[in-house]
Amino acid sequence: MTTSINADLHCHSVVSDGTLTPEQLAARAHANGVQLWALTDHDEIGGQHRAMAAAHAQGMDYLTGTEISVTFAGTTVHIVGLGFDADDAQLAQGLADTRGGREERAREIGDQLARVGIHGAFEGALRYAGNPELISRTHFARFLVEAGVCHDTSEVFRKYLIEGKPGYVPHRWASLGDAVRWIREAGGMAVIAHPARYGFTANEEYALFSEFKQHGGQGVEVVTGSHTPAEYATYAALAQEFDLAASRGSDFHSPNESHTDLGVLPNLPGQLTPVWDLLAGRVLHAPRPSGTA
Ligand code: AMP
Ligand code: MN
Ligand code: MN
Ligand code: MN
Repeated sequence: MTTSINADLHCHSVVSDGTLTPEQLAARAHANGVQLWALTDHDEIGGQHRAMAAAHAQGMDYLTGTEISVTFAGTTVHIVGLGFDADDAQLAQGLADTRGGREERAREIGDQLARVGIHGAFEGALRYAGNPELISRTHFARFLVEAGVCHDTSEVFRKYLIEGKPGYVPHRWASLGDAVRWIREAGGMAVIAHPARYGFTANEEYALFSEFKQHGGQGVEVVTGSHTPAEYATYAALAQEFDLAASRGSDFHSPNESHTDLGVLPNLPGQLTPVWDLLAGRVLHAPRPSGTA
């Protein structure tokens, strides 16, 4: 395989904070020309068997996926896992523990929003959560748009849900070392998600990449819906500096909210090693039509 295949290795379904089912996502990915797909729900692998079956029904190859929430240097960092055994007990337990604090956090977000006059937000957000164990800020954002408090979800984040705003509740997620270890020991590859999003200084970013490598991390997202073209170049250089494989993924959540659709981003820069080259043995191949090799 090469950098030129259409791989989309980052998106979300109703099993976390997306609005489409795994089957709807697979159909959309295939319609957009995706050849190798991964569903990467936040802190969840409950959709993996459905996603793989749906990918194969569409004739797409599949890599198992997840996106683990990690606290690093006081900031939430996301680590994508790819190509692991979806039935691995340690990974399942680690993800269950990571999800564990979400309901309590969501109740606190609801309480804080009530103090600024927005009532019923916890119950409202819960109605949007396809998975009650995975109530996310995204579900609050959708409820606040429905309630007419804001015009769109990014306005809700800007005004209410980020640090320093009235509905922000700090939370401690998994450690970087644990997240990488759960993924690796389940046979998969750990990948730093959308590194440009964290707002790190050069020193903090260097620490993230160095510690990630020390823990056994092997990849970084270079071409993602969260990066600008200038950032593709920045992180292509960093991937080479740290000898990391490169990944590509839209981070698609919803037809109404996401500005990047499945499968439409540019290819990875040709000098990089794509993660799917290192994961060739972990790809779950679509059944070939009978009569062909
Ligand atoms: P949580 O895991 O509950 O903290 O929610 C994080 C999710 O919120 C991310 O995965 C994104 O889907 C979404 N998100 C974060 N920041 C923004 C933003 N500025 N605008 C829209 N969605 C955002
Ligand atoms: Mn999300
Ligand atoms: Mn993310
Ligand atoms: Mn994501």
